[in-house]
Amino acid sequence: MKPIRVVVQGALGRVGREVVNAVCREPEMQLVGAVELKVSQDYLSLPDGSDTVPFSPDLDHILTSCQPDVLVDFTTAQATMPAVRIAAKQGVNLVIGTTGLTAEAISEMERLATAHKIGIVVAPNFALGAVLMMHLAKIAAKYLDYAEIIELHHHQKVDSPSGTALATAKAIAQARGKPFHHPPEQGQAPSSRGEQVEGVPIHSVRLPGLLAHQEVILGAPGQTLSIRHDTISRECFIPGVILAIKEVIKRQGLVYGLDALLGL
Ligand code: NAP
Repeated sequence: MKPIRVVVQGALGRVGREVVNAVCREPEMQLVGAVELKVSQDYLSLPDGSDTVPFSPDLDHILTSCQPDVLVDFTTAQATMPAVRIAAKQGVNLVIGTTGLTAEAISEMERLATAHKIGIVVAPNFALGAVLMMHLAKIAAKYLDYAEIIELHHHQKVDSPSGTALATAKAIAQARGKPFHHPPEQGQAPSSRGEQVEGVPIHSVRLPGLLAHQEVILGAPGQTLSIRHDTISRECFIPGVILAIKEVIKRQGLVYGLDALLGL
């Protein structure tokens, strides 16, 4: 079987580097090119030093010359949409991990995927444990009347609340099907109660020393249920990204969230 040809955009970023390493380790995949904003040479050495691949800030050029099956994007929300338009025009499938994307951006991706007959997987969180945390929180939301989310990330994360926290709040509110209960306001500054998303307060913590953590706390009289996921290293994203690369070439249209690929 021919290997899946992959280009990584954001290849020198914290997650991009892990993706480059993982794609190079996968027998069914081949890294054929890389894209980065600031590039000092026009090739990127493979992690084992065995070869190099074309490397450029010009995505259009890299896609034309490298002919990948899949473009993986871990960059910034500003960079992602222009990349999606370029890749869609060239018929290249996309796996997108960048967070902070607007609802309009997601709708445009859906239109582009249909119009150009490509697959696009967008996942606000590629960590399997985080996807399971959200799934379990959705089950609990039907039975416990109060919910709050605390998300904690490293201090270089630019968006808040995190994409995962936003997605969790929406998912548990939808799964519950009726509003969560709220404790009575007691004159405190509204900002001290977090950002309300679908009636769920989200508290965002940004500190060096953290990577990515989230706790969904559900409450009822006399009890709480905490569902917590901790990311220990960025390796946690890799199995999800690899699964998405394998799946996206088999599907047309937009898939939002890893849970859809896991059958949850
Ligand atoms: P990062 O270390 O800042 O990496 C982003 C990389 O993209 C940087 O090397 C950056 O270059 C590059 N870049 C920015 N704009 C670009 C453009 N127009 N073209 C090409 N490259 C560009 O960030 P990160 O921690 O890897 O995270 C990247 C994104 O993934 C963020 O949105 C983050 O929230 C998200 N994320 C998602 C998941 C998930 O599971 N879905 C997990 C972790 C992170 P410069 O440094 O020169 O700007």
